[in-house]
Amino acid sequence: MDKMELKALGKINLGLDVLGRRENGYHDVRMVMQTLYLYDQITIEKTEKPGIELSTNLFYLPVNENNLAYRAADLLMQEFGVEEGVKITLEKHIPVAAGMAGGSSNAAAVLYGINRMFSLGLSQEELMERGVKLGADVPYCIMRGTVLAEGIGEILTPLPAMPRCTVLVAKPPISVSTKLVYEKLDAHEIENHPDIDGVLEGLERQDLKKIASSMGNVLERVTVEEYPVIEEIKEMMKENGALNAMMSGSGPTVFGLYSDKRMAKEAAQKIKESGIAKQVYVTNIHNARRK
Ligand code: ATP
Repeated sequence: MDKMELKALGKINLGLDVLGRRENGYHDVRMVMQTLYLYDQITIEKTEKPGIELSTNLFYLPVNENNLAYRAADLLMQEFGVEEGVKITLEKHIPVAAGMAGGSSNAAAVLYGINRMFSLGLSQEELMERGVKLGADVPYCIMRGTVLAEGIGEILTPLPAMPRCTVLVAKPPISVSTKLVYEKLDAHEIENHPDIDGVLEGLERQDLKKIASSMGNVLERVTVEEYPVIEEIKEMMKENGALNAMMSGSGPTVFGLYSDKRMAKEAAQKIKESGIAKQVYVTNIHNARRK
Protein backbone atom coordinates (compact mmCIF):
# COMPACT_ATOMS: atom_id res chain seq x y z
CA MET A 1 0.00 0.00 0.00
CA ASP A 2 1.73 3.16 -1.24
CA LYS A 3 -1.09 5.64 -0.79
CA MET A 4 -3.83 5.98 1.84
CA GLU A 5 -6.80 8.29 2.16
CA LEU A 6 -7.99 8.77 5.73
CA LYS A 7 -10.75 10.70 7.43
CA ALA A 8 -9.79 12.35 10.72
CA LEU A 9 -13.09 12.94 12.51
CA GLY A 10 -13.72 15.73 15.01
CA LYS A 11 -15.46 15.36 18.37
CA ILE A 12 -17.75 17.15 20.76
CA ASN A 13 -18.08 16.72 24.50
CA LEU A 14 -21.55 15.79 25.71
CA GLY A 15 -20.17 16.33 29.20
CA LEU A 16 -16.93 17.74 30.55
CA ASP A 17 -16.04 17.84 34.23
CA VAL A 18 -12.72 18.59 35.90
CA LEU A 19 -12.07 16.68 39.12
CA GLY A 20 -8.67 18.07 40.07
CA ARG A 21 -5.28 19.34 39.02
CA ARG A 22 -2.11 17.25 39.04
CA GLU A 23 1.27 18.63 40.08
CA ASN A 24 2.50 18.46 36.48
CA GLY A 25 -0.31 20.82 35.40
CA TYR A 26 -2.50 18.11 33.81
CA HIS A 27 -6.09 17.88 34.97
CA ASP A 28 -8.12 14.87 36.00
CA VAL A 29 -11.23 14.95 33.88
CA ARG A 30 -14.48 13.07 33.44
CA MET A 31 -15.76 13.58 29.92
CA VAL A 32 -18.33 12.05 27.62
CA MET A 33 -16.89 12.19 24.12
CA GLN A 34 -18.78 11.87 20.85
CA THR A 35 -17.34 11.64 17.35
CA LEU A 36 -18.92 13.75 14.60
CA TYR A 37 -18.99 13.18 10.86
CA LEU A 38 -17.08 16.42 10.36
CA TYR A 39 -13.59 15.60 9.21
CA ASP A 40 -10.22 16.55 7.85
CA GLN A 41 -9.13 14.58 4.79
CA ILE A 42 -5.64 13.14 5.13
CA THR A 43 -3.56 11.57 2.37
CA ILE A 44 -0.40 9.64 3.16
CA GLU A 45 1.92 8.64 0.33
CA LYS A 46 5.07 6.57 0.55
CA THR A 47 8.18 8.26 -0.89
CA GLU A 48 11.63 6.90 -1.63
CA LYS A 49 13.17 10.04 -0.21
CA PRO A 50 13.45 9.58 3.57
CA GLY A 51 11.77 12.00 5.96
CA ILE A 52 8.36 13.59 6.34
CA GLU A 53 6.95 16.18 3.97
CA LEU A 54 3.75 17.83 5.18
CA SER A 55 1.43 20.24 3.42
CA THR A 56 -1.93 21.74 4.32
CA ASN A 57 -4.57 24.03 2.85
CA LEU A 58 -4.39 26.34 5.91
CA PHE A 59 -1.39 28.61 5.46
CA TYR A 60 -1.17 29.47 9.17
CA LEU A 61 -0.69 25.91 10.40
CA PRO A 62 2.85 24.67 10.98
CA VAL A 63 4.13 21.98 8.59
CA ASN A 64 7.02 20.87 10.77
CA GLU A 65 7.30 19.05 14.11
CA ASN A 66 4.90 21.61 15.62
CA ASN A 67 2.13 19.94 13.66
CA LEU A 68 0.60 16.96 15.47
CA ALA A 69 0.27 15.01 12.22
CA TYR A 70 3.99 15.41 11.59
CA ARG A 71 4.82 14.42 15.14
CA ALA A 72 2.64 11.31 14.94
CA ALA A 73 4.42 10.09 11.79
CA ASP A 74 7.82 10.95 13.24
CA LEU A 75 7.15 9.06 16.47
CA LEU A 76 6.38 5.76 14.74
CA MET A 77 8.94 6.09 11.93
CA GLN A 78 11.75 6.81 14.39
CA GLU A 79 10.76 4.00 16.74
CA PHE A 80 10.61 1.44 13.92
CA GLY A 81 13.52 2.81 11.92
CA VAL A 82 11.44 3.25 8.76
CA GLU A 83 13.88 4.04 5.95
CA GLU A 84 11.48 5.32 3.33
CA GLY A 85 9.69 8.65 3.67
CA VAL A 86 6.11 9.91 3.61
CA LYS A 87 4.28 12.79 2.07
CA ILE A 88 1.28 13.84 4.17
CA THR A 89 -1.44 16.15 2.87
CA LEU A 90 -3.91 17.66 5.34
CA GLU A 91 -7.12 19.11 4.02
CA LYS A 92 -8.53 20.84 7.09
CA HIS A 93 -12.27 21.28 7.68
CA ILE A 94 -12.54 20.81 11.45
CA PRO A 95 -12.36 24.29 13.03
CA VAL A 96 -8.87 24.95 14.43
CA ALA A 97 -8.21 25.74 18.11
CA ALA A 98 -11.89 25.23 18.64
CA GLY A 99 -12.40 22.45 21.19
CA MET A 100 -13.06 19.78 18.55
CA ALA A 101 -9.77 17.88 18.82
CA GLY A 102 -8.75 18.71 15.25
CA GLY A 103 -5.03 18.27 15.85
CA SER A 104 -5.54 15.18 18.00
CA SER A 105 -7.71 13.50 15.37
CA ASN A 106 -5.08 14.22 12.72
CA ALA A 107 -2.45 12.61 14.94
CA ALA A 108 -4.71 9.58 15.54
CA ALA A 109 -5.34 9.10 11.81
CA VAL A 110 -1.64 9.36 10.98
CA LEU A 111 -0.68 6.84 13.70
CA TYR A 112 -3.29 4.46 12.31
CA GLY A 113 -2.19 5.04 8.72
CA ILE A 114 1.57 4.70 9.28
CA ASN A 115 1.04 1.50 11.31
CA ARG A 116 -0.80 -0.02 8.34
CA MET A 117 1.32 1.41 5.54
CA PHE A 118 4.57 0.06 6.96
CA SER A 119 3.03 -3.09 8.51
CA LEU A 120 4.34 -2.18 11.97
CA GLY A 121 1.93 -4.63 13.63
CA LEU A 122 0.87 -2.40 16.52
CA SER A 123 -2.47 -3.19 18.17
CA GLN A 124 -4.99 -0.42 18.79
CA GLU A 125 -3.97 -0.38 22.46
CA GLU A 126 -0.31 -0.03 21.51
CA LEU A 127 -1.19 2.85 19.19
CA MET A 128 -3.07 4.53 22.04
CA GLU A 129 -0.06 4.19 24.36
CA ARG A 130 1.97 6.10 21.80
CA GLY A 131 -0.88 8.52 21.07
CA VAL A 132 -1.16 9.82 24.63
CA LYS A 133 2.43 11.08 24.34
CA LEU A 134 1.18 13.44 21.62
CA GLY A 135 -1.95 14.64 23.42
CA ALA A 136 -4.51 13.56 26.01
CA ASP A 137 -7.34 13.29 23.41
CA VAL A 138 -5.36 11.23 20.88
CA PRO A 139 -6.23 7.78 22.36
CA TYR A 140 -9.92 8.69 22.18
CA CYS A 141 -9.54 9.85 18.58
CA ILE A 142 -8.06 6.44 17.78
CA MET A 143 -11.03 4.65 19.38
CA ARG A 144 -13.93 6.94 18.26
CA GLY A 145 -17.65 6.72 19.07
CA THR A 146 -19.39 7.43 22.37
CA VAL A 147 -16.85 7.06 25.16
CA LEU A 148 -16.30 8.01 28.81
CA ALA A 149 -12.80 9.48 29.13
CA GLU A 150 -11.18 9.72 32.55
CA GLY A 151 -7.68 10.23 33.96
CA ILE A 152 -6.23 13.00 31.80
CA GLY A 153 -8.56 11.77 29.05
CA GLU A 154 -6.72 8.55 28.23
CA ILE A 155 -8.66 6.06 30.40
CA LEU A 156 -11.44 5.08 28.02
CA THR A 157 -14.68 3.21 28.66
CA PRO A 158 -16.89 2.57 25.62
CA LEU A 159 -20.50 3.65 26.20
CA PRO A 160 -23.80 2.75 24.49
CA ALA A 161 -23.90 4.61 21.16
CA MET A 162 -25.46 8.04 21.08
CA PRO A 163 -29.03 7.89 19.68
CA ARG A 164 -29.47 9.28 16.15
CA CYS A 165 -29.60 13.05 15.95
CA THR A 166 -28.35 16.00 13.92
CA VAL A 167 -25.63 18.25 15.29
CA LEU A 168 -25.30 21.92 14.43
CA VAL A 169 -21.78 23.23 14.95
CA ALA A 170 -20.91 26.93 14.99
CA LYS A 171 -17.54 28.50 15.70
CA PRO A 172 -17.38 32.23 16.33
CA PRO A 173 -14.32 33.95 14.83
CA ILE A 174 -12.22 33.88 17.99
CA SER A 175 -9.42 31.56 19.10
CA VAL A 176 -9.24 30.11 22.56
CA SER A 177 -6.12 28.73 24.24
CA THR A 178 -6.97 25.48 26.05
CA LYS A 179 -4.07 26.12 28.44
CA LEU A 180 -5.37 29.56 29.46
CA VAL A 181 -8.90 28.27 29.97
CA TYR A 182 -7.64 25.62 32.39
CA GLU A 183 -5.47 28.16 34.18
CA LYS A 184 -8.49 30.40 34.71
CA LEU A 185 -10.51 27.47 35.93
CA ASP A 186 -7.79 26.72 38.50
CA ALA A 187 -8.10 30.21 39.93
CA HIS A 188 -11.64 29.50 41.18
CA GLU A 189 -13.32 26.93 43.32
CA ILE A 190 -15.62 24.87 41.04
CA GLU A 191 -19.13 25.51 42.31
CA ASN A 192 -21.27 23.62 39.83
CA HIS A 193 -20.15 20.29 38.50
CA PRO A 194 -22.02 19.09 35.40
CA ASP A 195 -24.30 16.08 35.62
CA ILE A 196 -22.09 13.53 33.86
CA ASP A 197 -24.05 10.67 35.49
CA GLY A 198 -27.23 12.11 33.94
CA VAL A 199 -25.63 11.92 30.48
CA LEU A 200 -24.56 8.32 31.16
CA GLU A 201 -28.07 7.44 32.28
CA GLY A 202 -29.52 9.03 29.14
CA LEU A 203 -27.17 6.96 26.98
CA GLU A 204 -28.05 3.80 28.90
CA ARG A 205 -31.77 4.48 28.32
CA GLN A 206 -31.17 5.71 24.74
CA ASP A 207 -33.09 8.81 25.71
CA LEU A 208 -31.92 11.77 23.59
CA LYS A 209 -33.90 14.31 25.63
CA LYS A 210 -32.35 13.09 28.88
CA ILE A 211 -28.86 13.28 27.35
CA ALA A 212 -29.51 16.79 26.02
CA SER A 213 -30.94 18.10 29.28
CA SER A 214 -28.05 16.63 31.33
CA MET A 215 -25.25 18.04 29.15
CA GLY A 216 -22.79 20.32 30.90
CA ASN A 217 -19.27 21.66 30.51
CA VAL A 218 -17.37 23.01 33.52
CA LEU A 219 -15.11 25.09 31.22
CA GLU A 220 -18.03 26.95 29.72
CA ARG A 221 -18.36 29.57 32.47
CA VAL A 222 -14.69 30.54 32.22
CA THR A 223 -14.77 30.92 28.43
CA VAL A 224 -18.17 32.64 28.29
CA GLU A 225 -16.99 35.25 30.79
CA GLU A 226 -14.45 36.37 28.23
CA TYR A 227 -16.51 35.70 25.10
CA PRO A 228 -20.25 36.30 25.69
CA VAL A 229 -20.82 35.48 22.00
CA ILE A 230 -20.72 31.81 23.01
CA GLU A 231 -23.83 32.28 25.16
CA GLU A 232 -25.50 34.18 22.33
CA ILE A 233 -24.95 31.31 19.89
CA LYS A 234 -26.28 28.82 22.45
CA GLU A 235 -29.42 30.91 22.88
CA MET A 236 -29.89 31.20 19.13
CA MET A 237 -29.68 27.45 18.71
CA LYS A 238 -32.11 26.83 21.57
CA GLU A 239 -34.57 29.40 20.25
CA ASN A 240 -34.38 27.65 16.89
CA GLY A 241 -35.27 24.10 17.81
CA ALA A 242 -32.20 22.63 19.53
CA LEU A 243 -32.95 20.17 22.33
CA ASN A 244 -29.98 21.80 24.04
CA ALA A 245 -26.77 23.60 23.08
CA MET A 246 -23.35 23.70 24.72
CA MET A 247 -19.74 24.71 24.22
CA SER A 248 -17.42 21.87 23.17
CA GLY A 249 -14.14 21.29 25.04
CA SER A 250 -12.44 24.56 25.93
CA GLY A 251 -14.38 26.28 23.15
CA PRO A 252 -15.23 28.47 21.45
CA THR A 253 -17.20 26.05 19.22
CA VAL A 254 -20.84 25.67 20.21
CA PHE A 255 -22.97 22.71 19.18
CA GLY A 256 -26.70 22.09 19.31
CA LEU A 257 -28.46 18.73 19.28
CA TYR A 258 -31.49 18.44 17.00
CA SER A 259 -33.92 15.59 16.51
CA ASP A 260 -35.00 17.25 13.25
CA LYS A 261 -32.47 17.87 10.48
CA ARG A 262 -34.58 20.49 8.73
CA MET A 263 -34.72 22.59 11.89
CA ALA A 264 -30.94 22.31 12.27
CA LYS A 265 -30.49 23.55 8.70
CA GLU A 266 -32.82 26.49 9.28
CA ALA A 267 -31.01 27.42 12.49
CA ALA A 268 -27.67 27.19 10.64
CA GLN A 269 -28.97 29.60 8.03
CA LYS A 270 -30.08 32.09 10.71
CA ILE A 271 -26.75 31.92 12.50
CA LYS A 272 -24.87 32.47 9.25
CA GLU A 273 -27.08 35.39 8.27
CA SER A 274 -26.63 37.03 11.68
CA GLY A 275 -22.86 37.00 11.14
CA ILE A 276 -22.29 35.82 14.72
CA ALA A 277 -20.37 32.76 13.46
CA LYS A 278 -18.89 32.09 10.03
CA GLN A 279 -17.90 28.47 10.37
CA VAL A 280 -21.28 26.75 10.61
CA TYR A 281 -21.89 23.06 9.85
CA VAL A 282 -24.86 20.73 9.99
CA THR A 283 -23.56 17.24 10.56
CA ASN A 284 -24.30 13.83 12.04
CA ILE A 285 -22.91 11.87 14.91
CA HIS A 286 -20.56 9.04 13.96
CA ASN A 287 -20.81 6.01 16.20
CA ALA A 288 -18.62 3.42 14.47
CA ARG A 289 -15.43 2.65 16.35
CA ARG A 290 -12.15 2.22 14.53
CA LYS A 291 -11.36 -1.45 13.86
P1 ATP B 1 -8.71 20.22 21.64
O1 ATP B 1 -10.16 20.02 21.39
O2 ATP B 1 -7.93 18.92 21.72
O3 ATP B 1 -8.40 21.20 22.71
P2 ATP B 1 -8.42 22.20 19.70
O4 ATP B 1 -9.57 22.09 18.78
O5 ATP B 1 -8.57 23.19 20.80
O6 ATP B 1 -8.12 20.80 20.29
P3 ATP B 1 -6.54 22.12 17.55
O7 ATP B 1 -7.42 22.46 16.40
O8 ATP B 1 -6.14 20.70 17.66
O9 ATP B 1 -7.15 22.60 18.93
O10 ATP B 1 -5.26 23.05 17.43
C1 ATP B 1 -4.71 23.79 18.46
C2 ATP B 1 -3.38 24.35 17.98
O11 ATP B 1 -2.51 23.28 17.64
C3 ATP B 1 -3.51 25.19 16.72
O12 ATP B 1 -3.48 26.54 17.04
C4 ATP B 1 -2.35 24.78 15.83
O13 ATP B 1 -1.36 25.76 15.72
C5 ATP B 1 -1.74 23.55 16.49
N1 ATP B 1 -1.75 22.37 15.59
C6 ATP B 1 -0.76 21.51 15.45
N2 ATP B 1 -1.07 20.54 14.59
C7 ATP B 1 -2.32 20.79 14.15
C8 ATP B 1 -3.18 20.12 13.24
N3 ATP B 1 -2.81 19.01 12.58
N4 ATP B 1 -4.42 20.65 13.07
C9 ATP B 1 -4.79 21.76 13.73
N5 ATP B 1 -4.00 22.44 14.58
C10 ATP B 1 -2.77 21.96 14.81
